[in-house]
This record gives sequence, C-alpha cells and structure tokens, in this order.
Amino acid sequence: MITNNQWFVCISCGNIIPKAEKTSRNHCPHCFVSLHVDDLTPWDRASSCKGLMVPQSYFLTHGTIKITFVCLQCGHIHNNKTASDDQIVALDQVIQKWKKHIDQ
Ligand SMILES: [Zn+2]
Ligand SMILES: [Zn+2]
Repeated sequence: MITNNQWFVCISCGNIIPKAEKTSRNHCPHCFVSLHVDDLTPWDRASSCKGLMVPQSYFLTHGTIKITFVCLQCGHIHNNKTASDDQIVALDQVIQKWKKHIDQ
C-alpha cells in the first residue's frame, strides 16, 4: 500500500529521496522530476498515464515558490509547491534542460 509520504528512488536521477518533513513530496528535490500518477488532486493516484512530469516554470505565490510541471506524455499541467529541501538553485538549469523536450 502506498502512503502519502514515503521515501522513493527517483526514476530520473536515481537518488534515494527521503520522505519530506512536513509535506507530501511528489517530486525529486534534485532533478524535480515526478511521475504523472495523480489526476485532479495531489495523491489521488487516479491517472493511468504514468508519464514523466518535468518542471516547465515556477512562480512566487504567498511567499512560497510553486513549480509548474508538465507531463511529457500527455501534456497534463500541474502546479506543486516546493519542499524545504528542494535544490531551488538548480531549478533554472533543470527547466532549461527540459525545455527542448517540452517544445517538441
Ligand atoms: Zn531526481
Ligand atoms: Zn500524463
């Protein structure tokens, strides 16, 4: 059974991701990649897509950074807040890296 907050191995960079302290983590704090497993609400696990969700952009709202993720497989777009141990300094680079995949 899958709980809301547990460790996992990142499918993209292979890092072992410990569970987040306060929030349910859904993306890798190193490469910001997640899987398209949720449909309408986070952790509903209702999507059968299982495509790679990659960061497309980010924005500031109410003092927290939110990242806009896009699914490479179906184009589903999803905003998610950052976790405290996300490597925000690397985010710009990661977004640039995925840009050419998204535009295609
Ligand atoms: Zn990763
Ligand atoms: Zn998808």
